[in-house]
Amino acid sequence: MRIVALEEHFNVPSIVAGIDQAAVRRRGFPGPEVAWAQTIKRAELADMGDARLADMDANGITTQVLSVAGPGADLVPGPEGITLARAYNDALAASCAPQPVRFRGFAHLPLHSPEAAADELERCVKDLGFHGCLINGATDGRFLDDPIYEPILARSEALQVPIYLHPGLPTEAVRSAYFDGLPGNFSFTMAQSAWGWHADTAIHTLRLVLSGALDRHPGLQLIIGHMGEAIPFMMDRIDETTTAGAKAHLNRSVRQTLVDQVWITTSGFFTMVPFMAAMMTFGADRIMFSVDYPFASNARGRAFLDSLPVSPADRLKIAHGNADKLLRLPV
Ligand code: ZN
Repeated sequence: MRIVALEEHFNVPSIVAGIDQAAVRRRGFPGPEVAWAQTIKRAELADMGDARLADMDANGITTQVLSVAGPGADLVPGPEGITLARAYNDALAASCAPQPVRFRGFAHLPLHSPEAAADELERCVKDLGFHGCLINGATDGRFLDDPIYEPILARSEALQVPIYLHPGLPTEAVRSAYFDGLPGNFSFTMAQSAWGWHADTAIHTLRLVLSGALDRHPGLQLIIGHMGEAIPFMMDRIDETTTAGAKAHLNRSVRQTLVDQVWITTSGFFTMVPFMAAMMTFGADRIMFSVDYPFASNARGRAFLDSLPVSPADRLKIAHGNADKLLRLPV
């Protein structure tokens, strides 16, 4: 079975080392006192060769669509951020070139310079053969519905490539109000993988719907991970409470916009309860397999894919068919 995974990460230690550590700390990345995935998995993130391929082979994963994890160009304003994003994208293209079936790419964008970010996306799609971009949460407290990001939305739509809305660390004000003051590492864990990341990404997605941004760009497609970032569970409630507002301000109901323009992946979510909610809201035509390697295990993801209580046709859509269609992957 051909298996494509879309939320798979890498980074380049020499590029990370060039980013101002004070900016990294201000963004909420922890210091050495907190052990967390991006430091624990440093070697796996940096490896774009034998170890990564061996793990994919052992679990039958045909293709990883790769994106940057960790500190990036959203921490670096001005021309330096543009240069840094280009360096990441060129490094990824160089890693993909010898293995075009195994590795494909999502662009990393210099979000402090939205017009340059749109140009970089176009360069990545047209010159490097990438399939869209991946964005980590808000930049300086602004989500993609902010008018300054209009060039990125418009260019993605024009190029017919999706934007992967990936979790980012919540802003300082949110972290302190919602998560500070808990014992041990709980403040950090709650701000990221236990809750904050996922709420943040769901809000990011809903802001793009409620602001009218997706109505203005009906061809734009979004991808969100983690089995839909809790939106499947909340779908009925969101739709009911926004019905009147949607009639006044939007072209479609919130539910309709979500199922028209959002795709979800299984990254890091390998249990049946959230999958059933995803199937009953988005359906098999909108769910795509992903692992979130190296933060989640290829073996666990593959075992989950094999265990899904779906028809053979739906399993193939989830394993590769939907991704092939959305990303126009060479098959
Ligand atoms: Zn991820």
